[in-house]
Amino acid sequence: MEGFTITKLCEGAYNINDAHDDSFYVVIGEKLARVIDTGVTEGARITQVIREITDRPLVLVVTHAHFDHMYHMDEFETVYMSHKELTLKESFLENMKHGKDIDFAKTVDISTDSVIDLGGVTLSVCNLAGHTPGSVIILDETHDLLFTGDAIGSGCGVWMQVKSSVSLDRYYEALRKAFAWLTAKGGRMKFWGGHNKQVAQSEQVPGFNPLSMGLLADLIDLVDLVRNGKLEYRPVDGNPGSDKPVVYAAWGRAEMLFSPDAIHSDNMSE
Ligand SMILES: [Zn+2]
Ligand SMILES: [Zn+2]
Repeated sequence: MEGFTITKLCEGAYNINDAHDDSFYVVIGEKLARVIDTGVTEGARITQVIREITDRPLVLVVTHAHFDHMYHMDEFETVYMSHKELTLKESFLENMKHGKDIDFAKTVDISTDSVIDLGGVTLSVCNLAGHTPGSVIILDETHDLLFTGDAIGSGCGVWMQVKSSVSLDRYYEALRKAFAWLTAKGGRMKFWGGHNKQVAQSEQVPGFNPLSMGLLADLIDLVDLVRNGKLEYRPVDGNPGSDKPVVYAAWGRAEMLFSPDAIHSDNMSE
């Protein structure tokens, strides 16, 4: 279908990019196919695109409750999402629906070590509160692929300045737990973020900055240095994604945008 690019990651796993630089994924088991996130393409049905890949019954898991990851939720009967997202302000969640008929009460709650069996393919979930309180990363243990949504950025720095983000103190704890969880799962997974074509601001890593365990380790250091006042940062023009001042900091391969007044307290508002 026009506007979408489908790339085979390996036998049984696909990446789909929409025209707006949103990336979502399809993992096919013997019984079910799992769609991870949806992108946002107004006036289209993404299930039609997915039918070019598989005829298995579809279930959806959304990495977090931002519109660019769940816009097409109404096309799926079974949807998994962390109910920690429901701690966000109702007005914020309503905004994120973009006028679509989305009922969060119908979603199935997931959290660390939730497992979804697709038949011969197993997906496991790990909480990674930060960008949003209920952000999750999803590991396809069969193919060793990790789908991260916006939890640690996506080829550019993680957005911790948005109105749904938690404090850097909470993010630090969640990152450390996720790192330990991934290490226990072998630590060799390939990372796939929510926006494959985004480009870093870093002078050290110009262009696309692939996600990896190494970047995750750098991100843990970056967040810890910032929250302890040991790293300098610079303002970002136009305060993207926020109506407060936004700043940029980098360490190794990791980059982050954040609000200086949301280091020790959650940014969640409106
Ligand atoms: Zn997001
Ligand atoms: Zn996103």
